[in-house]
Amino acid sequence: EKFKDYPLDHQIKRALSALGFTRPLEVQSITMPLILQGQDLIVKAQTGSGKTAAFAIPICEKIDVELERPQALILAPTRELAVQVKEDIVDIGKYKGLKFCALYGKQPMEIQRKELKQNPHVIVATPGRMMDHILNKNVKLSDIKYLVIDEADEMLIMGFKAQLEAIIKKLPLDRVTLLFSATVPEEVHTLSQMYMINPQYIEV
Ligand code: AMP
Repeated sequence: EKFKDYPLDHQIKRALSALGFTRPLEVQSITMPLILQGQDLIVKAQTGSGKTAAFAIPICEKIDVELERPQALILAPTRELAVQVKEDIVDIGKYKGLKFCALYGKQPMEIQRKELKQNPHVIVATPGRMMDHILNKNVKLSDIKYLVIDEADEMLIMGFKAQLEAIIKKLPLDRVTLLFSATVPEEVHTLSQMYMINPQYIEV
């Protein structure tokens, strides 16, 4: 099975081909069809498995480029991961004309506020800085249709539970929620029970 046989936008296929991605990796072949169908997922997968593209490809596919509002929010525990995920998803969505923005601490709020004014389709953020922008009313969340919680176990270890929950409560209920984690301790299950609808559990 190759990406060129998948029901994906031509510009997404073009991006995958430019990246040298010919075939989906295991995590991608399992999760992509489910994400495209709108299924909530808990995915136990390690870094290096191809998990970023596993959510980035279907999200870029589903975003309406004509709607100039944030439609996907990807939360990551660290600035480094947020920047990396943003770079990866830019590579997948750029030919479709999608716009992206990364929000993280230690960069002036004002720079990021201006980026948000450009109406990115996808926001990649650390929880603390995301909450700051929400409280400052810098960001519109009414069209968010995808929430990704990346490295959920790290997020909880780093003490982001309260901020994570505060952000999730601001999002539309009519959304797809995808949780990726290298380990799935009880606290991650608890989080999923609170904020996901009938999540399917996938272990790669
Ligand atoms: P990740 O698990 O998201 O950190 O991805 C691990 C690495 O796999 C990254 O360097 C990606 O560029 C690469 N990668 C992701 N999907 C594919 C694919 N379908 N074919 C080849 N390489 C891939």
